[in-house]
Amino acid sequence: MTSTHDGAGSAPEAAALHEIVEGVFAWVQPDGTWWINNAGAVNGLDGTIVVDTCATEQRTRRFLAAVGAATGDAPLTMAVNTHLHGDHTYGNSLLPSTTVLIGHEAMREGLLVDPIIDGCPPVWQPVPDWGRVTRRVPSVVLRSDLTLFTGSRRVDLLHPGHPAHTTGDVVAWLPEERVLFTGDLIFHGVTPLVFMGSVEGAIASLGWLADFGADHVVPGHGPLIAGAELPGVLAGMERYLQLVLRTAQAGLAEGLTPLEAAQRCDLGEFAGMPDAERLALNLHRAYADATGTPFDLLEAIGDAVRYNGGPMASAV
Ligand SMILES: [Zn+2]
Repeated sequence: MTSTHDGAGSAPEAAALHEIVEGVFAWVQPDGTWWINNAGAVNGLDGTIVVDTCATEQRTRRFLAAVGAATGDAPLTMAVNTHLHGDHTYGNSLLPSTTVLIGHEAMREGLLVDPIIDGCPPVWQPVPDWGRVTRRVPSVVLRSDLTLFTGSRRVDLLHPGHPAHTTGDVVAWLPEERVLFTGDLIFHGVTPLVFMGSVEGAIASLGWLADFGADHVVPGHGPLIAGAELPGVLAGMERYLQLVLRTAQAGLAEGLTPLEAAQRCDLGEFAGMPDAERLALNLHRAYADATGTPFDLLEAIGDAVRYNGGPMASAV
């Protein structure tokens, strides 16, 4: 595996393009916390297939420049969004207009009504600066699966079949190279976030991910994962998500609000994990699903800020 750096340190400026196998690239942005995602690119004889963009104009331009340099500026024929969240999609409009953009049907619907691209609320500090990006949604959607080719290189897009990180998650799987781009079905080294999906669905998706038998895994956030490391990463995510479920069940039994349940929860081994305030967001989802009540996004975000004792940590 080879990597190219254009900086050093733990900020997104230190992002690097890793060539996992020949022509298959992962763009890994440190440190993987709020809004700092991973992306990828798959090059073949018919050009390059992009997997996700980045949150900001600056980060997306940096990513696309690195892909261009690594592929001899091969045409970006297609691009896939693994899910609707802005850290993976706000840069879509910086792709060439000829790039065919693909995503899950629910992902497209979600991005169409996403309010945060129009102006980030000051619940993160510093408030991220998206730069000159505009809302661009897929022109091709899938509901269960779709296969792309560039030359003979095959990329299978697959939906887990149920809500997990969001309602419109898609993984990109290269069956020959055994490379799996998971989007945010995997958070590696940062607190998982499932508030717009399902806690139980996210747990169910972990076994589904394991069954690919991938040699190389590109998580949505955090460092790359070798196949041998994957069971440990998935087991850690499952322990965290089970803790969320147990905390919700106990909180509901005691009549606590999601925020009160979060404040009383002992995070244990996860206490030092970045973005710990996501516990409040995840509990809002667990409460809504357990009680059949609507999920209130703004109230959930407000509780995450209250749990955190102020705006959540971010980067410009
Ligand atoms: Zn996400």
